[in-house]
Amino acid sequence: MPLASMDDTQNPKISNTNQRELTCPSCAGNLVYAPGTNLMRCEHCGAEVEITDEPVENIEELDFEAYIENNIGSIETQTLHTVRCKSCGAHVSLAENVTSDRCPFCSSILVVTDTISETQIKPGLLLPFDLDNQEATERFKRWIAGLWFAPSKLKTLATPNAIAGIYIPYWTFDADTYTTYSGQRGDNYTTTIPVVRNGRTEHQTVVRTRWRGVSGAVDVQFDDMLVTASNSLTQKEANALEPWDLEQAVSYNEMYLSGYRTEAYQVDLQQGFGLAQKRMDTTIRNEIHRDIGGDHQRIHHHSTNYSNITFKHALLPVYISSFRYKNKVFRFLINARTGRVYGQRPYSTLKIMGAILLIAAIAWLFWYISGLQTPTTTTF
Ligand SMILES: [Zn+2]
Ligand SMILES: [Zn+2]
Repeated sequence: MPLASMDDTQNPKISNTNQRELTCPSCAGNLVYAPGTNLMRCEHCGAEVEITDEPVENIEELDFEAYIENNIGSIETQTLHTVRCKSCGAHVSLAENVTSDRCPFCSSILVVTDTISETQIKPGLLLPFDLDNQEATERFKRWIAGLWFAPSKLKTLATPNAIAGIYIPYWTFDADTYTTYSGQRGDNYTTTIPVVRNGRTEHQTVVRTRWRGVSGAVDVQFDDMLVTASNSLTQKEANALEPWDLEQAVSYNEMYLSGYRTEAYQVDLQQGFGLAQKRMDTTIRNEIHRDIGGDHQRIHHHSTNYSNITFKHALLPVYISSFRYKNKVFRFLINARTGRVYGQRPYSTLKIMGAILLIAAIAWLFWYISGLQTPTTTTF
């Protein structure tokens, strides 16, 4: 197979378009990204073209506050040509030669004449697809086969619809935080209290907590706090696809998008930072708990100052599809890097009832056996 190198002279100005069909140097067929490689492969003659990645260290961390103040300002943008799904609202790019397609999120028919152009911040980095379609289907089958409390017929009846690969938009944020707090620290101590039992006074040891007011401050640095910029995935779905091997990310290069669809972000940068702050707050609260120390902690007030906030726009690869079982449609997602599958699924009420009865029977057996032994007392 001929291997041509694609440098800037052969591949002029691809940065300002979206999903342009790249053409084969041998036969002018379409080049699509070959998952798990750094190659573009011709759909027609199989010729391969190597993708030369820019070093990831060159990916610029963009200044969040400068962006918010000057709006787009000096930040590089690109125009995306997307179709808006009338049914679920997703904005999805399509390949140029496609005249009809289905929405990857909800399977509704997309009207390709409804193409819109939108200017968005250009992605800085992406994770290329690692699993191909066949491997993704394999992961789905394994997932279905391994589900607990699933109807027995599910394995044979659940055939997925076409599995579509799509790049989902994300924001990642870096920030330094300084949080002041006030609250309470609780330290446990043991004491004995008199208890009257059967007319006799006994002493029992109990654990009590002594509380005192505390205040302080914690510093937490965040690196690559990831939040989804898509409204098409629920937060639960997005979280379930984690972790992402962001350390393997490459600089944004349109060649990796060829053959896949891309979703335009619908959560803007400011909303994205709001989501990131919520995630950061969980870590900050944990840090405050550690800082307070003792056996128990209560946080009454805390206030966080953010500085050196930078962001990157990232695209992450996901396979989406659905399967039908007893006239109900279940959507599932696959992390195209790790193969992790997450989806809605049917449950077998019969199997769940069976498990509950079994647990009840075991619990009863333990209770019965323990009843046969002489009771022990905890008093002294
Ligand atoms: Zn070719
Ligand atoms: Zn849709």
